This record gives sequence, C-alpha cells and structure tokens, in this order.
Amino acid sequence: MIRVILEGLVKHYGGIAAVDGVSLELRPGGMTFVLGPSGAGKTTLARLVAGLEAPDDGEIFFDDRMVQAVPAHERGVGMVFEDLGLWPGLSVVETVGYPLRVRKQSRGERRYRVAETLTALRIDSLAGRRPDQLTPPQRFRTALARAVVTHPELLILDAPLRTLSPRAREESWEDLRRVHHEAGVTTMVLTDDPDEALAQADWLAVMDLGRIVQAGPPQELYNRPVDVFVARLLGPTNLLQGQVESHGSDGRGEVVVRTPLGRLIGQSGPGHPSPGAPVTISVRPETLAVGPTIPAGWNRFPATLERIVFRGHLRQLHARGPGDWPILVSVLQSHSHGLREGQSLTLSVAPEHVVVLPGKFAVGKASDGVGGAGVP
Ligand code: ADP
Repeated sequence: MIRVILEGLVKHYGGIAAVDGVSLELRPGGMTFVLGPSGAGKTTLARLVAGLEAPDDGEIFFDDRMVQAVPAHERGVGMVFEDLGLWPGLSVVETVGYPLRVRKQSRGERRYRVAETLTALRIDSLAGRRPDQLTPPQRFRTALARAVVTHPELLILDAPLRTLSPRAREESWEDLRRVHHEAGVTTMVLTDDPDEALAQADWLAVMDLGRIVQAGPPQELYNRPVDVFVARLLGPTNLLQGQVESHGSDGRGEVVVRTPLGRLIGQSGPGHPSPGAPVTISVRPETLAVGPTIPAGWNRFPATLERIVFRGHLRQLHARGPGDWPILVSVLQSHSHGLREGQSLTLSVAPEHVVVLPGKFAVGKASDGVGGAGVP
C-alpha cells in the first residue's frame, strides 16, 4: 500500500490552468475522493498522477519515489474511466487478461491471475461474454477487473458509475468497496456527485477552478466547510449575510454575528474574522429544531411556517423568519406531527451549527425578496 503525495502540481492548456497548484495526500490503502463540478480539473489531475500527462510544475511521490519521470506503463496505476473503455470484440476473459498479455506474463501466470480476479469480482460465470451481453454493473466489474488484475499500487476511478441507475450504483459501490478492502490498494475516485462522495469517501478533497478548496474527512467538510462553495456543494443549507459583532471569550472560535434574524452566536473556522467584517452564515436545515423547548445557550428566533413538503423519511418546512428571510428546516416525520401551514414557530439552533464563513456571497437578485437564502 503506497502513500501518494502531490505537491504544487500545475498543468496549463493554452491560457487555462486546468490544475493550478494542487497539493494532496492519498493515504495508503485509503479511498480518497476528489469532488468538484465539471471543468474543475479532476480528470487532468488524474492524468498527471497516472503519467498520461506531464505536469508543468510540481512533484508526485509514490511513497518516497518521485515518479514524474516514470512512464505511465511503469507507474503501477490501474484506471477505470467513465465510459469504461471496454473493447466491443473482446470477451470478459480476454479483456481482463489483456494487461497481462501486454506485460508479457507467462500463460500459466496469466491464467492464475485472471481466474483469481474474475472470481473476486463475481464475473467468472460471464467469462465468454462480450460487453453487449453484459448488464451495466457487470460491465463495470469487468473494467474494474482489468484495472486490478495487474495488482496496481494505485487505483484511479474517474466518475465510473455516473451513467448507472441508482440501484446499479449501489450494487457497484459494494463491489468496489469489497475489492478495495481485499486488495488494500490506495484508491482515488473522481466525482461530481456529493452524495456519493459523502457516503463512500474516507478522505474528501473538494476541487474548483484547478485548486483543492478543502480536504478532510467527509463529516468535517459537511459540518465545517471553509467557504460558501463547499457548504453549498455538499448539501442544502440556509445562507445569511451578517457582520461580526464580537468574539466569544472561550477562544474556540465562537463569534457573535448580527444578521437579519437577529444576533446569532456561531462558530468560525480558522482565521477568525475581526469585528465589523462581513460574513456569511451557513445553517444546515437538519440542525434547526422546532418547538418551544430550547437548550441553554442555543440561538432562537420566531418564524412562520409557510409550506410543508413531504419527502418520505423527512419533511421539509419552508418558513419565514424576521425580516422575511426564508428558512428551510428538515425534520423527521415523527417530529412533525401537529405542524400546520400558517402557524407560528420557534426555531432554535446550537452555536456549533451556525457556521460563520468569510466574506459575502451573491445569490439571486437582491430584489426578489429571498434575501439571498442559499438553499439549492
Ligand atoms: P473535470 O474532470 O473536473 O471536468 P478537466 O480536468 O476535464 O475537469 O478540465 C479542466 C479544464 O481544463 C477545463 O477548462 C477543460 O476545458 C480544460 N482541459 C482539459 N483537458 C484539456 C486539453 N487536452 N486541452 C485543452 N484544455 C483542456
């Protein structure tokens, strides 16, 4: 299991910095996700790591070996692309054996490795089929088998399940996790799907405009985003503009912020904004509590419940707070009995869930009466 370290990687195409100073560590045996919108630079980053492109600047280490000068076929990287790249004329067994044939491995060795891999991926009974005779999850397993049959040191998957149905994705994730676990291979997955990244990643790096904006455990990014981009990318959130009034005395980042909902006590990240600084508050809908019983030290404000949307396992409450600010609240079905559209509510939230982010944000028109609430 290798540790991969990327240091200050840069790659330009013409005037565009597709990768613009990326430093990132892929932990040995871990599953690191790089999440970002289309055009963020994910594929370019993967191609640099795999050796399919040369960086303009920066360094790539596999453990303590610098690999920039190592050609792609000697880097020991297995890849699965979005289109899977299966050859229409080759059967499953031929496809999976192909990388070993290229490496001129002996017939006996090839047989053994291919059989072992087909069994691990539950495609041994499909060995003679061609891609058009396979279901989408079976095609994915075949591409994955071809990528791991050489026992790569690093496995890179570029949006591999994007075109699959939700059920097929679920099943394929289970296959991938099992193979990853059994092979213990360091893995990098590129995706634009936040739900997939939050659910599957051991370590999550958010990428935008060629840079890593934030990296850490998925829960940390979800709960403590460093900016509005990360906060919104990872799930619905209420955004409010505010101004820092004062800092708490606990020295742990507690901040008092003046907002259209009144004074809120929140938690800022590193680099505490100074008093008077414009900030954006992010409050996830599921961290708001409804009802008159409020724990000590929590923020509270009144609101009017305008609409209840049934979402199966939960209900979304569309409310308006002071100053007509729209607020989205998610509550479990069992916690929403007796709520009626039009009624008054008391909403409350713990200071740790009032995330104070640097700077202002711009969403929607100032005149649309939405006040900029950033619920996607
Ligand atoms: P992602 O995988 O996140 O969608 P890409 O790495 O494909 O992002 O692209 C990042 C940026 O680099 C985009 O603006 C894209 O147009 C540009 N780009 C990528 N590959 C090339 C290339 N071979 N030639 C020119 N521009 C490219």
